[in-house]
Amino acid sequence: MSDLAQRYRATVAEINEQAIASGRDIDEIRLIVVSKNHGPELVRELYDLGQRDFGENRDQEAKPKAEQTADLEGVNWHFVGQLQSNKVKSALGYSRFIHSIDRPSLLVALQKELSSQTTVVGGFIQLNLTDDPGRGGVEPKDLLFFAESAVGTANLQILGVMGVAALDRDPRVDFETIHSASQQLQTLIPEARAISAGMSHDFREAIDMGATHLRIGTSITGKRNL
Ligand SMILES: *Cc1c(COP(=O)(O)O)cnc(C)c1O
Repeated sequence: MSDLAQRYRATVAEINEQAIASGRDIDEIRLIVVSKNHGPELVRELYDLGQRDFGENRDQEAKPKAEQTADLEGVNWHFVGQLQSNKVKSALGYSRFIHSIDRPSLLVALQKELSSQTTVVGGFIQLNLTDDPGRGGVEPKDLLFFAESAVGTANLQILGVMGVAALDRDPRVDFETIHSASQQLQTLIPEARAISAGMSHDFREAIDMGATHLRIGTSITGKRNL
């Protein structure tokens, strides 16, 4: 077995163990392998091991990779990074999910582009979990206001919230904030129960605190090169 296969299997096993330990239903937890800084051959190898969900954070890198693996049936691309408005059209060409709807101007750009599409995209509202309002993401206190403007967008299904926990404190603090934001969002959109949270270093805590979409890179892919 290759190192990649070994890390993949080990991570999947850990996710399963944590789900059991936390009393979570494993069918409610989706693993997205973040393949950024790795080539299409990594996607192919993981595909052969059964992986179908992949995440990318830059359109310039994601678009050619999606094209080079377009023959793989059933792959879902998740856009997880900050998305510039002028890249929306390109990103929607391959992404089934956008995890990083983080500001009104992006929402407007998505609305414009999606109105002429025929496929539905799943969206997550990204929260700003820092004390710095200048950082990307919607402030938790503004979540409902923002979500109201997203509701009813043609071809956009708001699935839930997304967050990146701060590195300099216990991730549980941020996962708690994400969890309560999720509860709030559900008062407006009851079916928007998804929580995109948890990366290589904190996915166990994220599972414990309700994450449904894990975005895991390095612990599976190894160090990013490229
Ligand atoms: C790179 C990235 C990840 C994966 O990070 P790892 O620490 O490698 O698991 C998750 N989410 C986002 C938004 C990323 O950019």
